[in-house]
Amino acid sequence: MEEKIWLSSPTMHGEEQVFVKEAFDTNWVAPLGKNVNEFEKEVSSYVGCRAAAAMTAGTHALHLAVKLAGVREGDIVICSDLTFAATVNPVKYENGVQVFVESERETWNMDPVALEKGLKKYKDRVKAVIVANLYGTPAKMDEIVGLCKKYGVTLIEDAAESLGATYKGRQTGTFGKYNAISFNGNKIITTSGGGMFLSDDENAVEKVRFYSTQARDVAPHYQHSEIGYNYRMSNVVAGIGRGQLLHINEHIKLKKDIYMRYKEAFSDLPVEMNPYLDCSEPNFWLSCFTINEEAMNRVNPEKIRIELENNNIEARPIWKPMHLQPVYEKNDFISVGDNVGEDIFRRGLCLPSDIKMTEEQQENVIKIIKGLF
Ligand SMILES: *Cc1c(COP(=O)(O)O)cnc(C)c1O
Repeated sequence: MEEKIWLSSPTMHGEEQVFVKEAFDTNWVAPLGKNVNEFEKEVSSYVGCRAAAAMTAGTHALHLAVKLAGVREGDIVICSDLTFAATVNPVKYENGVQVFVESERETWNMDPVALEKGLKKYKDRVKAVIVANLYGTPAKMDEIVGLCKKYGVTLIEDAAESLGATYKGRQTGTFGKYNAISFNGNKIITTSGGGMFLSDDENAVEKVRFYSTQARDVAPHYQHSEIGYNYRMSNVVAGIGRGQLLHINEHIKLKKDIYMRYKEAFSDLPVEMNPYLDCSEPNFWLSCFTINEEAMNRVNPEKIRIELENNNIEARPIWKPMHLQPVYEKNDFISVGDNVGEDIFRRGLCLPSDIKMTEEQQENVIKIIKGLF
């Protein structure tokens, strides 16, 4: 059997171990410490935001973003529909109610037209909007930021998949009042597991630090006036992140090369690669395509996925839209078109996008896929 080709797996370089060793050598094997402080500074400086707090997961950064947005029982949070459940679940942690809005076809992200329809429908009940940048492709940020301003709601940006991507030259993870990124194992860079809360509001970041370290009041004894969480990143884990961050631009370049090779190779097939706006530069975290409707009776995404799996190659379906999830069957879904997310889910596939995949290995993936058409 050939060596397994992964969808997207960690790629380590060596510097990670240097920072981790430093944590061991100074016996700083604890939550917080120099690596955490430096990692926060390095990420904020890379992204271009004022402050950041490192968390045990991107999901936890999103949870505290929802909390800081002031979401209370029954408040509405308008969310991306075509995304991973971690984008939207934190709303429920604070007893809010998600309303999902349809995607548009130009970036596969939240459709601003559907967003405005939702904002009008729920008016004062809407506390926040959570927009995700799917597969590393920035959403229509000018429109979404503008609507949040117009209707006076807090924007939370889920940039978990899009670290390093830009929209009109500005990094994702800076468009929301509160923003989250992820360092899970399969993301553009990884700490094995972890995330970060980003904001230009330094007080907000201080609050996140407070809530993520058990909400201790200022007192030598352990006194609590609020419910806290244990969400802070460990100093060992942050060491991995510091080493990874040195290589993020290289990772993005390799991801883009993979995307461009697929695009070129499939130009004569009835498929379309995941699209992006001319004014944006994705991080190309995952290369995906949709099969044109007229070819769907000959070959479908699941057939391709299984054929690849039989060759020890990992591909993955597109995220199943949130409004189709059993756990969210009672939540409202705002649509303005022809159910774009469901259509992309039905016709789409995430292709192997691992940056350790060689050109020959990718040629083989391409050959197998072409053979099915
Ligand atoms: C990975 C991911 C998250 C969650 O990040 P974790 O670090 O795994 O908790 C949130 N949203 C999206 C869109 C993701 O892909």
